[in-house]
Amino acid sequence: MSRLNSVIRRLQAQRDCLNAAAEMIKGHDGIVLEVGLGNGRTFDHLREIMPDREIFVFDRQIAAHPKCIPDDDHLFLGDIFETLPMAVERFKGKVALVHSDVGTGDEALNAKIASFIGQTLPPALINGAIVASDQKIDVPGTITEPLPEGVPQDRYFFRRYQ
Ligand code: SAM
Repeated sequence: MSRLNSVIRRLQAQRDCLNAAAEMIKGHDGIVLEVGLGNGRTFDHLREIMPDREIFVFDRQIAAHPKCIPDDDHLFLGDIFETLPMAVERFKGKVALVHSDVGTGDEALNAKIASFIGQTLPPALINGAIVASDQKIDVPGTITEPLPEGVPQDRYFFRRYQ
């Protein structure tokens, strides 16, 4: 497959997963955490498909398209090893969806981040919350949910908190 087709498929799968996650939390009141602003693509999509939800965004730096930067009140700027615990403390039992897209090229670092996120998140999650992620994250108290049709296994990961 050409690299162009590969990128298109990866982004289509990501969009399908975000759309599915938004459907899965319908009927569950709660805020959204977007972990990994990057250039703001997925943040922009999440706010488009969930205009009525408050979205809080995490990144260690701002490198997003100017139109895709949240206001200061919705931005946790810094290393998630510091900012995520603060957010979990602030949003105890209020989070309906977490989208985590912080994968790097470093497998060991990815595993460390995934483990940290999984251990840190639970107190913030409402019953029925979805954790959608680009890396496999084991979140205590959650079960695996199937991916949307057509999204390859291990391309994305869905967990539901019960
Ligand atoms: N979802 C984004 C989009 O669609 O544009 C792409 C996110 S990009 C793949 C990953 C982001 O995670 C980068 O912007 C990086 O700075 C951030 N990141 C990685 N490790 C981090 C950490 N420990 N703390 C805060 N941000 C981190």
